[in-house]
Amino acid sequence: MTLSAGVDSILQNLGVHRDRYRYGTRAVRSPLTGETVGQVKDADPAGVSDAIEQSEKAFIAWRSFPAPRRGEFVRLLGEELRATKTELGRLVTIETGKILSEGHGEVQEMIDICDFAVGLSRQLYGLTIASERPHHRMMEQWHPLGPVGIITAFNFPVAVWSWNAALALVCGNPVIWKPSDKTPLTALAVEALVGRAATRFGDAPAGLSTVLIGGREIGEMLVDDARVPLVSATGSTAMGQLVGPRLARRFARAILELGGNNASIVCPSADLDLALRAICFAAVGTAGQRCTSLRRLFVHHSVHDSLVARLKQAYAAVQIGNSLTNSGLLVGPLIDEAAFHRMQETLAEARKLGGQVVGGDRFEAVSYPAAYYVKPALVEMPEQIGPVLRETFAPILYVMKFSDFDEALALHNEVRQGLSSSIFSTDIHEVEKFLSVVGSDCGIANVNIGPSGAEIGGAFGGEKETGGGREAGSDAWKAYMRRVTSTINFGNDLPLAQGVKFDIV
Ligand code: NAD
Repeated sequence: MTLSAGVDSILQNLGVHRDRYRYGTRAVRSPLTGETVGQVKDADPAGVSDAIEQSEKAFIAWRSFPAPRRGEFVRLLGEELRATKTELGRLVTIETGKILSEGHGEVQEMIDICDFAVGLSRQLYGLTIASERPHHRMMEQWHPLGPVGIITAFNFPVAVWSWNAALALVCGNPVIWKPSDKTPLTALAVEALVGRAATRFGDAPAGLSTVLIGGREIGEMLVDDARVPLVSATGSTAMGQLVGPRLARRFARAILELGGNNASIVCPSADLDLALRAICFAAVGTAGQRCTSLRRLFVHHSVHDSLVARLKQAYAAVQIGNSLTNSGLLVGPLIDEAAFHRMQETLAEARKLGGQVVGGDRFEAVSYPAAYYVKPALVEMPEQIGPVLRETFAPILYVMKFSDFDEALALHNEVRQGLSSSIFSTDIHEVEKFLSVVGSDCGIANVNIGPSGAEIGGAFGGEKETGGGREAGSDAWKAYMRRVTSTINFGNDLPLAQGVKFDIV
């Protein structure tokens, strides 16, 4: 079966009408082979405005559904995802090129966040606060906010939507989703699953969850529309630099999940077997196309040579290719030709600066002329300069040697991004320092695992040019709600706060 026929079979089974993905003007190509697997239709400006209007109407109804009932909707969505995990995971692989086990893992992450949100729907707690005035009580309530715009990147085409949507929906908000223009088919599949959940739920308002296909212009319309009080945008720092000020101009809330430049520090006491496996998964997995991919590795000089030698062996043995035709593979293709050229330019720049590059060239053994499979690159750099300071969305790992732990920590924090980080050490002083206020400056700091592969239970996001947003677990839900502080006087006097006197008679 061709990939295109495979897409047809999955989307038909999920109930997506062929008009949505066969006859449009925007071609969707699979990075696995480079072939076109869909033709989707972009939303037009009038359609975007109508969708936002529908979403506003849905908000008026949805905000008055009791939160646990809203949780029931998300529970049903989780069931639909469980029932179709194999198919949807396969579609994720076709559209992004990631290996099948990661495609299925992405759907599992959606199921996990649905479960989390169902529990949350009975735990949207506010505080009762001690008042300084007699016969007064203070409290905090959390109310629904309004339509939530969700803009997503190609590399997690459906999971990132679900981190936002599951929370937004239980918090009482409709969602409007602008998926990456590189991965619209998985979004259409998820839209169909939401439709199934809505049918089973019974009285969900129309417009509760909308998908708007298109490029950045569609995202910009969401960003600029005053009827959308919160936009959660995931993608490059360059995108965030445009979106952030536009949202600020109209005082909208922003959750910005942007680029990372994640590092690990390998200390003399590290378990090197464990570190080797963790580094390979974090640097090579998903062909280096995770926001949390490991890009910078600082290795203590006492273990440097042996670890680098083992890394080179592991890199040479990594199986690369189309995971739909060979299940033992670890690395799929880059998303497209542009990503391949950016990788080559970055490696050329690193070489000029004295970097010793192993790998990084096109993997010719996979014979699809329009697909871009690459050997992961290991680059020994004399210092942290040039391309090491920025994110290149490809499997490039820069390795640098250090002697002093504090010096490694300073280099670790020197870059402008602040998403994820990790340390490999069994020395409690180093570990605790890394996690402390003077340690890693990232939103995620791990010990004896790599920087990638987060669970949904924790709040996910980063600092500095990574944007500062938080999604998924912990108390990330608060960003999707409006906080109200109320003071109630159950006495007969009117004492004023701070002892202020204001007697009018
Ligand atoms: P991208 O920035 O090219 O696009 C991301 C999304 O933003 C797309 O839907 C795109 O259409 C939209 N967009 C682009 N410009 C816009 C604008 N001016 N206004 C509104 N919308 C706009 O990113 P990509 O290539 O799809 O994804 C890779 C990037 O995403 C990497 O930098 C990666 O680190 C980052 N990422 C970050 C996280 C995180 O949680 N921090 C997660 C996944 C990916």
